[in-house]
Amino acid sequence: MNLRRPARRYPSRMGISHEALPSRISPPSRISKEALFNLPAPPETRPRFRSHRAAAMTESVIREMSRVAHRYKAINLAQGFPDFEAPEEIKAAACEAINRNINQYPITWGAKPFRDAIAAKYKRHYDLDFDPEREVTVCCGATECMIATMMAILDPGDEVVAFEPFYENYGPDSIFCGAKLNLVKLHSRTLPGGEGPEWTFDPDELRQAFSPRTKAIILNTPNNPTGRVFTRRELESIAALCQEFDALAITDEIYEHIIFDGAVHIPIMTLPGMRDRTVLISSLSKTYTVTGWRVGWALASPDLTDSIRKIHDFLTVAAAAPLQAGGVTALSMPAEFYAGIAREYQKKRDLMLGALTGAGFRCYRPEGAYYIMTDISGFGFPDDLTFTAHMAERAGVVGVPGSCFFKDPASGAQNVRFCFCKKYETLEAARDRLRKLSV
Ligand code: PLP
Repeated sequence: MNLRRPARRYPSRMGISHEALPSRISPPSRISKEALFNLPAPPETRPRFRSHRAAAMTESVIREMSRVAHRYKAINLAQGFPDFEAPEEIKAAACEAINRNINQYPITWGAKPFRDAIAAKYKRHYDLDFDPEREVTVCCGATECMIATMMAILDPGDEVVAFEPFYENYGPDSIFCGAKLNLVKLHSRTLPGGEGPEWTFDPDELRQAFSPRTKAIILNTPNNPTGRVFTRRELESIAALCQEFDALAITDEIYEHIIFDGAVHIPIMTLPGMRDRTVLISSLSKTYTVTGWRVGWALASPDLTDSIRKIHDFLTVAAAAPLQAGGVTALSMPAEFYAGIAREYQKKRDLMLGALTGAGFRCYRPEGAYYIMTDISGFGFPDDLTFTAHMAERAGVVGVPGSCFFKDPASGAQNVRFCFCKKYETLEAARDRLRKLSV
């Protein structure tokens, strides 16, 4: 995140520019947020060589926060990666693959044993049938799956719908395609007229976001950053609009196995009429504790897969061959493995809910994924960046400023997101440190 860059041609686009904020605010802590966040800005002397695309986006705030944590030796509860080990058998399978000389390019859309393992897993878990030859594309993480899918489907001027707050990559992904991102608010309180979960959408607002130019909706459930797991009813209303407007659902389901309190993850692809109207994206990263492996997959009907594979091929050629071999072992883990990760993460969620509430945060209780979105208004800070700077200095803990999940930074200015995919000892140390915020 670079606060010193001059105003951009597309100032309010995603990737999220915060350059309006620093002059307005004087942080109550000794360390300024400029000092905390700024990296030296490169000279802006050659605009000819900065594309509109590059100018329209900023550094990822989430990834920047990991660098901030490093710099200040703070506990990193920002970027969502575990500090504990991946399962031994998965690591061993990847090492063994390297030693068996599985070190050359695999088939561009995925090694056959891995595509077979993916198809078998979806049959086992969701009773979905995929033809590994024509409906499975392995990419470098869900990240590349999403870019390849959007580039395969969208032309400049097309529209794509997503819920806000949203995982920040979807903004730059739309910019890459020249597509317009129409955002629909997930309201953080119960909607007027009845009981309901936090972070849900108003069906009328969702309908208004669709138009004849809408080619797709991006659906991330379990959701980052809110922790929502969309219900069958919500999914049905999304599916109905996809069918009415002849649009696709592009789903990001990478937290599919991290669900709490009996919540059930339902791939929208399993709903009537959605099998050929969905591109289902997931990855090894979160479920198997291997975020650094960069292996994911996109599942879709043959016509969509054909386009996705072509884009993927020319973007990256293929995901790492020996890690796809490790993935075969990962995807063959028994049912107890999945029950175990949900159980463990629920305990960690509860620990962190207690730690954050005790320190003065208002917490939104996640139903899935491994983040807690908080409301920091009780601390009396003007915005999330100022508060995050204060927290890094005063408590030695780093979270993600909530504004990076919103198009208009003001909408998330009283939110900070914490991840809890850490060892118990890390979370307990964070709990002890966070107490310093309330004294
Ligand atoms: N999608 C969401 C919603 C995420 O939260 C993340 C990482 O935090 C990703 C995608 C990245 O997935 P991958 O590591 O498979 O590229």
